[in-house]
Amino acid sequence: MLTLKSPTGPRELTHRSLWLQEALPDETPEARERERLTGQQRADICILGGGYTGLWTALFLKEREPSLDIAIVEADICGGGASGRNGGFALSWWSKLSTLVKQCGEDDGMWLAEQSEEAVKFLGTFSEEYGIECDFRHEGWLWVASSEAQLDTWVSTAEASSSRGRDVFQPLSTEESQRRGGSPRYLGGIFDPTAARVQPALLARGLRRVARERGVRIYEDSPVTSVDGTVPLIVRTPGGSVSADTVVSALNAWTPGLRQFERFRRAFVTIASDIVATEPRPDLLLANGWTGAELVSDSRMMVHYHRTTADGRIAFGKGGGAMSAAGYFGDAFHYDRGRSELTARHLRWLYPDFADVDITHAWSGPVDRTPNGLPFFGRAKERENLVYGLGFSGNGVAPCVNGGRILASLALREDDRWTQTALARGPRNFFPPEPVRFLGGSVVRRAIREKERIEDAGSEAPAILKYLAGFAPETYFKLGPKAGTQQALPGSEPAEPK
Ligand SMILES: Cc1cc2nc3c(=O)[nH]c(=O)nc-3n(C[C@H](O)[C@H](O)[C@H](O)COP(=O)(O)OP(=O)(O)OC[C@H]3O[C@@H](n4cnc5c(N)ncnc54)[C@H](O)[C@@H]3O)c2cc1C
Repeated sequence: MLTLKSPTGPRELTHRSLWLQEALPDETPEARERERLTGQQRADICILGGGYTGLWTALFLKEREPSLDIAIVEADICGGGASGRNGGFALSWWSKLSTLVKQCGEDDGMWLAEQSEEAVKFLGTFSEEYGIECDFRHEGWLWVASSEAQLDTWVSTAEASSSRGRDVFQPLSTEESQRRGGSPRYLGGIFDPTAARVQPALLARGLRRVARERGVRIYEDSPVTSVDGTVPLIVRTPGGSVSADTVVSALNAWTPGLRQFERFRRAFVTIASDIVATEPRPDLLLANGWTGAELVSDSRMMVHYHRTTADGRIAFGKGGGAMSAAGYFGDAFHYDRGRSELTARHLRWLYPDFADVDITHAWSGPVDRTPNGLPFFGRAKERENLVYGLGFSGNGVAPCVNGGRILASLALREDDRWTQTALARGPRNFFPPEPVRFLGGSVVRRAIREKERIEDAGSEAPAILKYLAGFAPETYFKLGPKAGTQQALPGSEPAEPK
């Protein structure tokens, strides 16, 4: 059992993800070594958080200015947060194009979507170049319907790109969705070839290795308790401090734990996402036809996202398991038995062939969901040399690459296309204050859960439930599919497996 202290208080990590349990034992003793921050250290740039965002920022900074002295300070181990626990869906932002255009304008919106597609490819080329064996498979994403009500929910999303000359999404017949997705419950869908799958923790740990090889100092087991001073800024942990000219905060849902970022509590809501993994059963996958490396998610608000693994398991995720009040979250955001069992029931409902297969791993993690599903970056108001980036909203595996580019540019005070986009102008949208947010969110989540339960049983949900569900914020995993509606919080129960 590991203890992690964070700005939101100490927490026990009892359930490392399958991904970390696979990755850590295979590391060399040298790679496994961890250094704690002790004494008074100095760096040009200090990065808080050793997930994808922090690691990519360090790597791009080193690429642009190799002589920079960079330190990363991480409370747990690199990859211990969302980066080592996610579903491994490396998605582009084509499904977010409407929102990108709305927030950033036509030119920047299209450019960011194109760059997001490049980021997926970059994950593959970078991994290959640096020997990061993270099971990168560029075989796309099946976005399917698992109830009649979900059919065609993707139409406006697909039109957003095709009407701008990019035919990204390809239609899938019922038969094709069932065959390629391996479930008799699928009724059709669309296919996005720009997506790739990765083993998330192998990617995070590989980035850590490359960062160290490039001379980045990494302090782990070193929870940041405060950032004080002006120039330099002083990053403090219980064991020591780093004084740095510039500090980059890459703390994901933990960000508001820093005094300077308390105000971000209204800029996003922390949602727990839950994943279970089966024992390896390549024989069953072979029998049901899910032999490609395509990622699959359905189109419910409490989204199901699932993929196979290199050794023939199903890793099955379910969004929206719990919602934090005012941004404070505890152990239930790292593992919750009840939610894991519910997630397993959904897996078995969608994959009846796996009804008797053991669930060997279960874990959860915090998702930093913003009102429109896009991240935000910027500089602290009172400290120009304190920059931040967060809000990937459950879609960070590939977008954190470009997030790292934006943060590197902000840290170097560069005026370039990355820093000129509206994403780099701080949070633009806010949730209502507490207790309205939590109470309202609870009512909406309950309505979604009931609506989807009814729809899973093949009936039409009453208008009042649809109305209430429409108040959910955009996207857990992707953007709202139906024109004029918003997609959202995950969390429903399907009809009981028959
Ligand atoms: C269960 C789950 C499934 C997901 N599935 C997908 C998916 O399939 N595809 C996708 O694109 N995205 C997915 N995401 C989202 C994606 O994982 C994140 O957007 C991405 O990993 C964010 O990276 P990050 O570096 O910003 O955050 P993190 O990886 O969370 O890094 C932040 C780090 O800060 C550290 N920290 C916290 N407090 C302190 C402190 N006081 N001092 C120092 N360090 C501290 C944490 O330990 C953590 O390592 C999922 C997320 C979850 C939780």
